[in-house]
Parts: sequence; C-alpha cells; structure tokens
Amino acid sequence: MNWLARLKELEAARSSTPQNLQKDAFVGFVGAGPEPFQEMKYGESIFTTRIVLFMVRDLDKDEAEAMVDRLAVRDQEKDERRVCVECRHLFGTKNRRFCHQWEKTGKIGGPSIPSELTTILQRCAGFEPEVLE
Ligand code: SF4
Repeated sequence: MNWLARLKELEAARSSTPQNLQKDAFVGFVGAGPEPFQEMKYGESIFTTRIVLFMVRDLDKDEAEAMVDRLAVRDQEKDERRVCVECRHLFGTKNRRFCHQWEKTGKIGGPSIPSELTTILQRCAGFEPEVLE
C-alpha cells in the first residue's frame, strides 16, 4: 500500500472516531450502572441526556418527555425536590425498582420501591444525581 492510500485510510478511520461527533449533541450516557455522567452543560444537552436516561430506565418516550418538561420547570423554580428516576441509586426495571441507599432515606423499610413512587418529586437524604447538575 502506498503512502497516499495509507493516508486516506487513516483519514477515514479518524473521521469515524467519537471525538469527531458533535460535542453538544450528547455529553453523557449511562446504562444500568451507577456511575454518574462526567460532564454536563445545561441546555439542550441536559434535556437529551435526561430523555435517554429515563428511557433507559423504562419510561416510554411520552413519559420521558413529560418528566423532562416537569424537571425543567422544577429547575427553573429552584425546587429542591428530586425524582428517583434521576438518582444514581435507583436500579431494577420499571416493575421492580430498588434503591441502593434505602437505609439513608429514612422513608422506606427496604430496598424495594413501588414503581409509581419513583416518578414523584420528593426530598430524599440519599439522593445523588445520575446526571450531574
Ligand atoms: S436514594 Fe432516594 S431518590 Fe435515590 S433512588 Fe433511593 S429513594 Fe429514590
């Protein structure tokens, strides 16, 4: 292979790396694991990231969008309440939710949380954001 062919191959490989993706389009993603996102810039990115997070946590698209809108109002009003679906200590599926920090909450008697409570704004001593704010 001559140098020109190698250069073209290298350029093609570079143009397909994640560093070349639009930086503001998506700044973090989390699967089921407990690690928080590392960077967050408030704006479109946080909306997108929250929708992805909520959909990963089994909210359907309409539920996820409604939740993102509700949290945007909450943030604007500087309301300090949180929902479990944005907490790094939540795990499980939509029908079987659990909290890693249930002993810190002082509100629940075990790790299991009724699914309907995970989308209600509340104050919780164990809360830590999955999406850095
Ligand atoms: S720590 Fe609190 S906010 Fe987080 S999942 Fe548990 S109960 Fe929900």
